[in-house]
Amino acid sequence: MKNSGIKTEILRIKKGIAPVVYGEVKSKKNSSKTLLFYNHYDVQPAEPFNLWHDAPFSGKIKGNKIFGRGSSDDKGELITRIKAVEAFLKTTGGVPCNVKFVIEGEEETGSAYIEKYLKKYKKKFSCDGVIWEFGYVDSKNRPIVGLGMKGLLFVELSKKESNQDAHSSLAVIIKNPAWRLIDAVKTLRDSKGHILIKDWYKEVKPFTKRDLKLIDAEPFDESSFKKEFGIKNFVNGKKGLEVKKALAGNPTCNIAGFVSGYTEQGAKTVLPSEALAKLDFRLVPKMVPKKQVLRLKKHLKSKGFGDIKIKIYHGEAAARTDPSHPIVSIVKKSADQAYGKSILNVSNAGTGPMYSFSNILHVPCISIGSTYMFARIHSPNEFARIDFLKKTTRCICLILDKFGKP
Ligand SMILES: [Zn+2]
Repeated sequence: MKNSGIKTEILRIKKGIAPVVYGEVKSKKNSSKTLLFYNHYDVQPAEPFNLWHDAPFSGKIKGNKIFGRGSSDDKGELITRIKAVEAFLKTTGGVPCNVKFVIEGEEETGSAYIEKYLKKYKKKFSCDGVIWEFGYVDSKNRPIVGLGMKGLLFVELSKKESNQDAHSSLAVIIKNPAWRLIDAVKTLRDSKGHILIKDWYKEVKPFTKRDLKLIDAEPFDESSFKKEFGIKNFVNGKKGLEVKKALAGNPTCNIAGFVSGYTEQGAKTVLPSEALAKLDFRLVPKMVPKKQVLRLKKHLKSKGFGDIKIKIYHGEAAARTDPSHPIVSIVKKSADQAYGKSILNVSNAGTGPMYSFSNILHVPCISIGSTYMFARIHSPNEFARIDFLKKTTRCICLILDKFGKP
């Protein structure tokens, strides 16, 4: 950032907490408008190493692709923002509007402290709009302009029965905690994907007509999606509009991991002493994570599973930007110009701390970026596409230019 002419600072709130890298460039034109770029410098772990074709941090370039952990998520995205600012500074000597960078280091683990940073540095981070840390580009080279993110509740359920694993012949008299946990988890959701916890959907509002129109207009190539993942059909046999509505607005209850007993190769007749399930629930606007936790706890108790231990890892609310906000058309037009065509997306199916930004800074957040939708982010052989990095850099330049205009 320094090399690009951006004034930088390291911000800290507490020892042991990853610092935020802050950057700023003031417009010489005395523009009253400020655009803030939110990104992150941390990455997902690179494991399993043996599935990588090249070392995970090699940055190996093959044709149009740069391979490496973080190449798309989020270093590729960040570099498009930095280079756009650099391009303005080098060619015009200034930027069309004030620019701020907030680059955190704990996004991949749930942005546990971003809210504290936002509260402490509220004045420093004040702005008129936030460009989110990523944006997908679909299989037909159309960038997706995202107006929202789902929330997330991540919990761990566990059951310990005995103080040691036992010979499985004893399964006639010692209870198996894996069965117990399976029974408990089974009460959370029906086979169609509907969550059975009382009042889970209580605050959820149906889509507005405008949202539905936008969702309907969003292209989604079902067959190429299925092909990419090697699957035959979707949850509950969803098709067409139902698929798109679900991605934008359905809460989920997902088993992220289930561990118990012997899971290595071959047989081992063992009766495990404990079982553990990691679950993530995607939340939609108006769902309050704390309230949902209480509902989950109440549910397990009422179903007779008060013995299941619950550990809460992370909770964050969903956020959405109003499609009629002026910044939306600025970003959409810039994306259309840079890529030829772009898509407006009511809400991403994933989660980020967007709610903290929109709630504390009181500004719209909008996502646009360079991440190819099948760029294997979070998986081995993650890559960034060089053509998209270039186009997105141009797109960010156009956004800065339009945003700075009075
Ligand atoms: Zn990520």
